[in-house]
Amino acid sequence: MLGRTHLLWGFFLSLVFITLFSFLNPFFIVVLSLFASLLPDIDEKKSFIGRYFRNISFFFSHRGVFHSVFAAVLFSCFVWFFSNFFFAGIFFSAYFFHLLFDSATKQGIKPFYFGRRISGFVKTGSFVEKIIFFCLIIINIFLLLKII
Ligand SMILES: [Zn+2]
Repeated sequence: MLGRTHLLWGFFLSLVFITLFSFLNPFFIVVLSLFASLLPDIDEKKSFIGRYFRNISFFFSHRGVFHSVFAAVLFSCFVWFFSNFFFAGIFFSAYFFHLLFDSATKQGIKPFYFGRRISGFVKTGSFVEKIIFFCLIIINIFLLLKII
């Protein structure tokens, strides 16, 4: 999936979490959710986040260890250590959904890194992804208007 689709889904999740956890800072929820939804693509040098961390794509293959559940758990533990359980849960959800979306693509991912590759039928940047992208825009606008 393209970074913009992951971003829109991350924004969708943040709106859901803002509704659920109204006692947490909404700005931080949005930033954390958007960041976590992009972080797995740090291993791709042309991605939104990967272009700032080119060294990582040199050492790690795209859709390798950063696209595994292990990375999601490890990074979530860091967030838990430095903040609290709620933020760790939000981070994990956004990271995990990135993996879920990528597993629906033809290239797929190895969720446990060493195991079997899981793939779907969606081609990255294809018409199907564009439909998902525009549906997410409409849903996000609807949710945003409901929250404001
Ligand atoms: Zn990815």
